[in-house]
Amino acid sequence: MIKTKTRGNLVVISGPSGAGKGSVIQGVLQKYPHYWLSVSATSRPIRGNDIPDVTYYFISKEEFETKIEEGYFLEYTNYVGNYYGTPKEFIQQKLDEGIDVILEIEIEGASNIRKMLPDALCIFIMPPSLGELKRRLINRKTDSKEKIMGRFQTAYNEINEVTKYNYVIVNDVLEEAIEKVEAIVQAANCRVDRIEEIYINSLEEEMHEFLIDKEFDNEIKDIRKSEMK
Ligand code: 5GP
Repeated sequence: MIKTKTRGNLVVISGPSGAGKGSVIQGVLQKYPHYWLSVSATSRPIRGNDIPDVTYYFISKEEFETKIEEGYFLEYTNYVGNYYGTPKEFIQQKLDEGIDVILEIEIEGASNIRKMLPDALCIFIMPPSLGELKRRLINRKTDSKEKIMGRFQTAYNEINEVTKYNYVIVNDVLEEAIEKVEAIVQAANCRVDRIEEIYINSLEEEMHEFLIDKEFDNEIKDIRKSEMK
């Protein structure tokens, strides 16, 4: 009956540090095979739990600037003194293959994507409360008190940017947050603007004609009956 676009969705996910966006994304990737997570490039130094070419492509500031000039990035930003950017390569290809592409990027990058690609699904992951956010940041144990306070202040400021997004997910119960990402994407797949064609196949056409004929026959019979009375 209908033919819809098989194109994948571009899913942009942001949220303050401590909201748990990384866990939500990993959960989505593990549960649903139709997603692909884009790996960003960055000029920031490698940290303890980073895996080069998996968490990021680590390149120098100079390499990053050359790539900006070459038009290598779909979007990029300078965030707290370091460059971060989404390589264009693969994204178009994955979307054309019908794969849903996830970008985990900060607020400015998300806003640039939204301007360029208004169909992108921009999701903000929110912590359940400021108290819970503080508890999560403290529980990381890797940061100094000053760093925790800095992150808390940044997170507090970032939360006010939520209205720039299309969707918000409060990450209270992780499993539910994962399901909500999938629900947003499935809802996008049902949008009528994804319909490419509405058609009647030949079998349906035959049936239609058969029904019309039958109806017509009955009408004739009824008329004849009434005339005979
Ligand atoms: P981190 O240094 O903690 O890994 O990341 C810092 C921030 O940069 C996070 O908010 C993360 O979402 C964001 N980020 C990571 N990759 C990109 C990117 O390619 N583009 C933009 N705009 N932000 C990114």
